[in-house]
Amino acid sequence: MSDFLGSVNQNFDKAAAHTGLKKGLLDQIKACNSVYQMRFPVLIGKEYQVIEAYRAQHSHHRLPTKGGIRFSHKVDQDEVVALATLMTYKCAIVDVPFGGAKGGVCVSTREYNEEQLERITRRYTMELIRKNFIGPGIDVPAPDYGTGPREMAWILDTYLTMKGGELDAAGCVTGKPVNQYGIRGRTEATGRGVFYALKEACSFEDDMKALGLKTGLEGKTVAVQGLGNVGYYAASICQNEGGCKIISVAEYEGAIYNENGIDIEKLMKYRKKKGSIMGFPGTKKMKSRKDVLTVKCDILIPAALENQITMGNAKSVKAKIVAEAANGPVTADAAAHLVKKGIMVIPDMYINAGGVTVSYFEWLKNLSHMRFGRMEKRFDQNRYVNLMNQLEKMTGKKATNKEMAFLTRGADEIDLVRSGLEETMITAYHEIRSVLKRKKKITDLRTAAFVVAINKIASDYNSLGVWP
Ligand code: GLU
Repeated sequence: MSDFLGSVNQNFDKAAAHTGLKKGLLDQIKACNSVYQMRFPVLIGKEYQVIEAYRAQHSHHRLPTKGGIRFSHKVDQDEVVALATLMTYKCAIVDVPFGGAKGGVCVSTREYNEEQLERITRRYTMELIRKNFIGPGIDVPAPDYGTGPREMAWILDTYLTMKGGELDAAGCVTGKPVNQYGIRGRTEATGRGVFYALKEACSFEDDMKALGLKTGLEGKTVAVQGLGNVGYYAASICQNEGGCKIISVAEYEGAIYNENGIDIEKLMKYRKKKGSIMGFPGTKKMKSRKDVLTVKCDILIPAALENQITMGNAKSVKAKIVAEAANGPVTADAAAHLVKKGIMVIPDMYINAGGVTVSYFEWLKNLSHMRFGRMEKRFDQNRYVNLMNQLEKMTGKKATNKEMAFLTRGADEIDLVRSGLEETMITAYHEIRSVLKRKKKITDLRTAAFVVAINKIASDYNSLGVWP
């Protein structure tokens, strides 16, 4: 078993001991229900290449199953199963009524052009359709490392080609472009979820005091590993809406540092122009890109891949809070070490659940065949205008046009998505924190999050009446 899957199972076992549930039920919750491994030929240039790919459905206790598709040359069965497993617990924690799944295609995206990637994606989708591993009520993929809205549009188009008459076909995949049945706010969702989670975690005075920090995000120093979809939005929103100071950033090409802060928007523009973050004005080059993980800062956001903080470098981590924006960035042993040192580790299965939460909203939008806000926006707006008119009459004061527009605005889709996401992240944090405070033997947020997830899944099994 790989370190990653081993870590996930180790964490599960540790938490399971606190639930008092029977072994048989715990074994059923832990087991991966199905894995489909496939190998298919795709014409690349003049030659056929055999591509290896997977789709793992960890838990069928709720359907459809849900989880992204990863394109990476490092993909293997254990990794996909570990990621699918995390999806099950992630969905339970944020009350998204899905089982967990994950797909992986063993390709390095840098080695293929757009047309070749399209052929690979469409062929992979065909394999899933053939085996009944995709569908709005069966299994709903989404983006993950190496994939994005473009790939999701190819998946949808392939699905529609085969199943065009299905009324809810658009719900067969999420993370689609907005003009292809997608939802506003999905792209930023995981990063925005990280921000809402951090904001909530930093709002408790006693927790912050224990870390030697003040409450609130304002002025907190942050180091970010990875400027992909998750890392970029997490850093950008923490900086622009939270008032955080981003002091170190690492990407594929290396790591940079500036104690006075790095403007993320300017850095992204610079990287687009130069093809690298290195040499960004005002920053110092760090020896190795992994040095970002050991920078002295308030919040460390590993937003790249799994197994980044291990027993090899855990001793050198100097952050007060580690926000696991990636899936599995800290191994189980290393996390235990960090917690022992007094570091707050906010676990992946909670803190990066914003993506799947907004995927759920997108799926609901697809099933309802209507944009959120369409029915009530004008109604709300007219009601607020009437209210304001009455207030003006009663007080004899007049609001400016700007004030009027601000106070009477009805909610658009993006407003509803963001407020739904914020509510979800806050509620889930409170549930996890209350387990941590209530159960004296639990000393870390991950174990508490697992307990929350396991109990919810167990109650689903019990309410199905299939478990004695
Ligand atoms: N790949 C993302 C994750 O790991 C999103 C999954 C989804 O939206 O279904 O959570």
